[in-house]
Amino acid sequence: MGRRGVKEYRAPEALQLILADRDRQDLVCPSCGSEDIIRTPKRRVRKVRWEADRQVTLHCTKCGRHAAYVPKAVTQPSEVELGSV
Ligand SMILES: [Zn+2]
Repeated sequence: MGRRGVKEYRAPEALQLILADRDRQDLVCPSCGSEDIIRTPKRRVRKVRWEADRQVTLHCTKCGRHAAYVPKAVTQPSEVELGSV
């Protein structure tokens, strides 16, 4: 029980969400379009140093999809051509 509700994003969707978060843009679920994304840990506006080695999880409360990444490990530029995956 419980675990069945957790779905992974497809890779291009996860990448899109991860890059949006890394660039501190508004988070919109690439799968269902919801803006109700729970980010863990929460962004701290006053925090000067980005916690680059802590895992960030992004969870859409609407469709239940889930992505996780470590900011330090994401080296791709923002202009990613998702169609080439
Ligand atoms: Zn969603």
